[in-house]
Amino acid sequence: MPALTRAHVQPDGVTDLRDGFLIREIGRGVFMLTNGNYQSVFLTTGEGVVLVDAPEPLVRHLPAAVAEVTDEPITTVVYSHGHSDHIGGTHLLADPTLEIIAEARIAEFIATKNDPRRPRPTRSFKDRMTLRKGSRTIEFVRDGFHSADGDLLVYLPEEKVLIGIDLIAPGWVPLLDFDITENMFNYISAFDRVLAYDFDVFISGHTADVAHRADVELTKRYTLDVYETVKRTHDELNIHELLDEDRDNEQAGIKKIIETVTGRATADVQSRWLDGPMKGVDLWTESHCRAMVLYVRWTD
Ligand SMILES: [Zn+2]
Repeated sequence: MPALTRAHVQPDGVTDLRDGFLIREIGRGVFMLTNGNYQSVFLTTGEGVVLVDAPEPLVRHLPAAVAEVTDEPITTVVYSHGHSDHIGGTHLLADPTLEIIAEARIAEFIATKNDPRRPRPTRSFKDRMTLRKGSRTIEFVRDGFHSADGDLLVYLPEEKVLIGIDLIAPGWVPLLDFDITENMFNYISAFDRVLAYDFDVFISGHTADVAHRADVELTKRYTLDVYETVKRTHDELNIHELLDEDRDNEQAGIKKIIETVTGRATADVQSRWLDGPMKGVDLWTESHCRAMVLYVRWTD
C-alpha cells in the first residue's frame, strides 16, 4: 500500500490549483475537493467514503484526492439536489455496489429526467434522515431555497460542518437571480434556517474557499437590503401614472414598472455595496433587483 501523500491538502487562505484541484480538510477526515469553481465533500467513516455531490469536472480528480487522505473506497454518493452540473459526474463512479442517496422528490425528478449521467438513487427518504455509517453521523434535511425539487442541507453535528449547495458564495454576492432560485420566498428565509445550525464551516458548492458563519450573515444582510430596497422603490412608484401612459397597451406598462423599479433599486443598492466586502455587485445586482421585483410584485 503506497504511503498517503496529502500533497494537495491546503489550509484556508492558500490556493494552489496548478494540478487542477486542491483539498481542504474541514474536520477530522472530512474534506472539500475543489477545482476553484465546483466543490464536493468527501468523508471517511471507517466503513467507506461518503461523497456529497459529483460534479463532472471534479470526478476525474476524485480517485487521486481520496487516495491522498485515506485507503477507504468510495461507497456512498449523496445528491444535494438534482441539477446536472453538481451530480452529472456520478455515472463515472457508478458500479453495482455504489449506494446513491437522495431525498424522495429529488429522486423522483432524476427518475423523470432519465439522464445517464445522473444514475437513479438506490436509497431515498422523505424530508429528513439520519445516516449512521461507521464513525459518522450525517443528518439530511430537505430545504427548497433554490431548486424546485428541493435542496438538501447536509449536517455533520460532531464536526460542525453544514453543506447547502448554491446558497451564497463566500467573497461574492449570489450568482445571477439569487443563485437562480426557483423560490425566492424560500431563498430569503433560508438564511435563518441555516444560521440556526451550530456550524463553523459552511460548504456552498462553488469557489476555492469554504465559507463561515460571517459569510452567511453578510449574504443575508445583502439579500435583505435588496428585498427592502426593491419593496420600498416599488411601493413609492405611482403605478397608475405609469400604466396610464400606456393606456392602450397594458403590458407595456407592466414592463415599464419592472424596468423602472429594477433601475432605481439597482442604483440604490450599488451605492452601498459596490465598494463593499463582496465581489460581483457590478455583475449581478441588477439581476437580483429584477428577480426581486417579480417576487415583490406577484408573490410577496
Ligand atoms: Zn451550482
